[in-house]
Amino acid sequence: MSFESLANSGVGELPTYEPGRPIEDVARELGFGDPAEVTKLASNENALGPSPLAMEAIVSNAANMHLYPDGGAFHLKQALAEKLQVKPEQLLIGNGSNELIEFIGHVFMGPHAGIVMADRAFIAYKLIAAMFKAPVVTVPMAAFVHDLDAMLEAIRPETRVVFVANPNNPTGTIVSRDAINSFMARVPDHVVVCYDEAYVELLPEVQQPATLDYVREGRNVIALRTFSKTYGLAGLRVGYAVAPAECIALLNRVRQPFNVSAMALIAAEAALRDDEHVARTRALVVDGLKELGSAFGAMGLSYVPSAANFILVKVGEGRCCFEALQKRGVIVRPMDGYGLPDYIRITVGTHAENMCCIEALKSVLEART
Ligand SMILES: *Cc1c(COP(=O)(O)O)cnc(C)c1O
Repeated sequence: MSFESLANSGVGELPTYEPGRPIEDVARELGFGDPAEVTKLASNENALGPSPLAMEAIVSNAANMHLYPDGGAFHLKQALAEKLQVKPEQLLIGNGSNELIEFIGHVFMGPHAGIVMADRAFIAYKLIAAMFKAPVVTVPMAAFVHDLDAMLEAIRPETRVVFVANPNNPTGTIVSRDAINSFMARVPDHVVVCYDEAYVELLPEVQQPATLDYVREGRNVIALRTFSKTYGLAGLRVGYAVAPAECIALLNRVRQPFNVSAMALIAAEAALRDDEHVARTRALVVDGLKELGSAFGAMGLSYVPSAANFILVKVGEGRCCFEALQKRGVIVRPMDGYGLPDYIRITVGTHAENMCCIEALKSVLEART
């Protein structure tokens, strides 16, 4: 019998995620002699690299890697609890925040327990919902911003989870504290609201969402955060959820005992202390967004003003542009998977990387006419 016919129903039809292409892959395929000739601005990674404190911790802990990790992540939870002013039992550590989205699926989604999300929101929610056969209601954004009023209207009796990515990937837009407060004042209590805050550390303090207040009040809220972006540890896979203890206990039941590696836990704890790296990263992103934005303006391209470390820009025929840029050694992200075929998403790089991308983009657009 074919594997397909033996597989659980629906598995063969599951959509797959199209990740940013690895540098080595592109270099091999396009015949670049040296992978260093390729610039990757495709996955919202930190252009400054990992937190230096995390790198030190990694090196000095190599000799302990024969030991299993602390599955309860005691030290990282203590450090996070102190920093965020929550209790350790309000925290769960995941193998990237993507794993936590899957835990949310295990606990809350099913054929009669669906989700509500925005049409241009981070695509992982939809993919995880499909794994659990959970119905998905997508709500149009208003000018690339989550329309929380419309999302509230879209909640049905069978809705279990509402996802709000803030700032959102790939639009880079944020929802205001007022919009969140007004939403939280009206959201029915049969839904869990998941605020995915992967880029939150990049925001100025005044713009940082106050979602942890809702967690402290015991509301049905889960905040997701990650060490992949601002802390520069995407390769290690560490994210965390902040939610009321009762919710965390449920999510913890679907977690494998050693879901996060010992090295990842150690590095994340060190990165959390690295305020200097966060400050340098923020400054780089602010400068880079200006640099890219003004170059796009000069080229007559429209873009969505971003609060995160990437920018959505309208180039027309995004996939062709992505391919042409790749031939010139610059990897970006096509956006047709998000229903935005005319756009590409570009991650903010170093000054040199941004310049390289701008030059390549100019040459692609000129070659087109
Ligand atoms: C990058 C990203 C994540 C998660 O990444 P992990 O590496 O799995 O922690 C989650 N949500 C959004 C919106 C992202 O952009």
